[in-house]
Amino acid sequence: MQIDASKCVGCGQCRPYCTMGSIKFIRSAKGNKVHCSVNEDECVDCGICQRAGICSTEALFQPLHGWPRSIRGTFSNPLAEHKETRVPGRGTEEMKTNDITGRYQHGYAGMAAEMGRPGTGARMRDIEKVFKALAKLGVEFEVNNPLTGLLINKQTGEMNPEVLDEKVLSAIIEMLIPLDRVVAVLEILENMAEELDTVFSVDLVSRVSEDSSVPTAKIMEKSGKWFSYNGKTNVGLGRLHVKGGISR
Ligand code: SF4
Ligand code: SF4
Repeated sequence: MQIDASKCVGCGQCRPYCTMGSIKFIRSAKGNKVHCSVNEDECVDCGICQRAGICSTEALFQPLHGWPRSIRGTFSNPLAEHKETRVPGRGTEEMKTNDITGRYQHGYAGMAAEMGRPGTGARMRDIEKVFKALAKLGVEFEVNNPLTGLLINKQTGEMNPEVLDEKVLSAIIEMLIPLDRVVAVLEILENMAEELDTVFSVDLVSRVSEDSSVPTAKIMEKSGKWFSYNGKTNVGLGRLHVKGGISR
């Protein structure tokens, strides 16, 4: 995002809408005029400031960016589609619709690290560190996920070096793991947290067992790690075609 200094009147109305705090006041050399400017390195091209419709002079504008800057918008702007997957957003929808796709079967967990969430954003350089640490455990990264598409080596977790300086509002590393590896993956993520210049949240998805218990919840209780049931549950709204239970 950029601000046309010739149109901006420095009212500051757009600043509270910036997800990254990247809109700053700039004083003119003579000190008699103020306008706003976007720190483009910190801006993730989420478009929220512009979509808020708050700018009375239409000074905010989104330039068309080429590769690799273009990935900021595709991960951060919910209205932008990934060219490869034609899906908007940061990960795949299936984490919330397992009842339709059946991606996560009994004995397995879907796991995701939502990098940059809540509210800080994440550089691809930090996301690569997590990919690399997880790759050492031999986890299976989701092939339809747009972040996985940026890997040049799925065995080592190495990302395309051209994207490493790019920053996004958030992006989701998705993986499929056997239930007995959940704690090992959590430990890797916990150890990584100190090394990253961002935050992340972890999602765990599993199918409900025959006895109505949630296998991942049992694992979390046993591990003594904090967790919350307050996740999304999507039962497929009449399109259920996976037999034998629902996911949570
Ligand atoms: S709302 Fe528009 S005019 Fe006001 S500071 Fe932001 S860009 Fe400038
Ligand atoms: S596009 Fe997003 S990050 Fe960039 S200035 Fe606007 S609100 Fe801030």
